[in-house]
Amino acid sequence: MRRRLVEVLRSKDIQSEEVLAAVGRVPRHMFLDSSFEDHAYQNKAFPIGEDQTISHPYTVAFQTELLHLNGGEKVLEIGTGSGYQTAVLLEMGTKVFSIERQNGLFHRTKSLLPKMGYIAKLKYGDGYIGWEEFAPYDRIIVTAGAPFIPDALKSQLKIGGILVIPVGREKQVMTVLVKKSESDFETFTYDAFQFVPMLEDKARR
Ligand code: SAH
Repeated sequence: MRRRLVEVLRSKDIQSEEVLAAVGRVPRHMFLDSSFEDHAYQNKAFPIGEDQTISHPYTVAFQTELLHLNGGEKVLEIGTGSGYQTAVLLEMGTKVFSIERQNGLFHRTKSLLPKMGYIAKLKYGDGYIGWEEFAPYDRIIVTAGAPFIPDALKSQLKIGGILVIPVGREKQVMTVLVKKSESDFETFTYDAFQFVPMLEDKARR
């Protein structure tokens, strides 16, 4: 089923063999409620509790491809959710720092990932303020719909680094920022997607 999913992603124009191989290695069914296990390898989003969804495999693959990973990068992920995207990033050979603002999801994923052999640094907190302690990051990926691009994420990115973030309220335009200097960013935009919103305040203390 995973092999079939990889072929679907290839037919939808995911081109990176490394990304396709990473998706092919992650057992997606482990990240879903057992009632959805049968559907794990369809290209669909599913509920993961607390009104959140695991992203479509295509979206995960597309965002991962936009990160242009070579392995060894330090990646900050906003929106840990089920941990599926985290696992794909780890399969790409990166070091992952991931933030989730829903306490229930944070705890569930924190216990699930190591059981599957996936070691990432996870934090319960607010993605709008990033994770200063381990900055700067080579890459930052936001997996919730952001109404705007948070300044903290721009400043926690290394020069030469890449930020991938879906920007917008009802629909989000997939946006890539390449950091040229402390104040200078090159921007690229792609298709529109629909993410759950990146929410403010809840975890802010
Ligand atoms: N990468 C996840 C996608 C989950 S959906 C996966 O593969 O399953 C987006 C996630 O972003 C949700 O879990 C949601 O709770 C979280 N989120 C929303 N606003 C956030 C914020 N301000 N900071 C951190 N996480 C946030």
